[in-house]
Amino acid sequence: MKILRAIAEVRDAVAAARTSNQTVGLVPTMGAFHEGHLSLMREARKSNDLVVVSLFVNPTQFAANEDLSTYPRDEARDAALAEAEGVDLLFAPEPGEIYPDGFATTVHVAGVTEVLDGASRGIHHFDGVATVVTKLFGIVRPDVAYFGQKDAQQVLVVRRVVRDLNLDVRIEACPIVREADGLAMSSRNVYLDAEARMQATALNRALDAAHALHDAGEGDAAKIRAAAAEVLRDAGVSPEYLELRDAETLAPVATTERDTLIAVAARVGAARLIDNHTLRSAEPRGDA
Ligand code: AMP
Repeated sequence: MKILRAIAEVRDAVAAARTSNQTVGLVPTMGAFHEGHLSLMREARKSNDLVVVSLFVNPTQFAANEDLSTYPRDEARDAALAEAEGVDLLFAPEPGEIYPDGFATTVHVAGVTEVLDGASRGIHHFDGVATVVTKLFGIVRPDVAYFGQKDAQQVLVVRRVVRDLNLDVRIEACPIVREADGLAMSSRNVYLDAEARMQATALNRALDAAHALHDAGEGDAAKIRAAAAEVLRDAGVSPEYLELRDAETLAPVATTERDTLIAVAARVGAARLIDNHTLRSAEPRGDA
């Protein structure tokens, strides 16, 4: 595996692969790898000749009061893990390589960015995500890019950018990887002390309770939400948001007759955690 810092080196390596008609898969990450990241790398390895992983803690998607300076970083460990998954190129640029002096362009997506994490973290968050992902697509020009359903709203934002800007890349959303007790894996879980780590299991338990009610035939969004809210309350967790929304448009929903995302964000101890489940509609959808 090669570790590359410069955009020009990535372009050269990808161009060399392209001359022999190799397919290129990209996994964008901010590092501090766990099984969630590794699952995306494995998916990419299965279906592509050249696998590129980007490792870049993107400053533009953090607000001033967020954890940019303390975000866990361990490039040597990450490189060893990526290499063990058969990754070909690890692109780990310095911020100045991605945002040189004079950088002045932002990719702004309307609509799906305005709720959930967009409302909770501020609009800069998805502006930063959309801009850096668009740049990575321009640098690597992958055939396929792999994202985790853990960040369900991010997947929708990226799909919107790809459609709206006619980018020639296929987006693959991969399932959420969880700890044995159901906590969604996250680089931010290292912020949890023992007590908070226990409390953090309430997020997935709340989503499970909602999911069980839905599977038992309840279609009323307010009732499903209430079941999840009760689990959070019992665990002493007050969510930043706990919402049911259309899984494709993120429009608010009154029922779960279409595929519905139930998404939660909460501060637990020193970490801000997010999680979600998709409640599948019982009826096959006409447009599916
Ligand atoms: P991050 O490094 O947090 O920006 O994540 C990089 C990619 O890994 C994103 O597409 C995330 O959605 C994905 N990811 C993070 N955690 C998980 C998880 N627990 N399961 C699946 N994918 C994940």
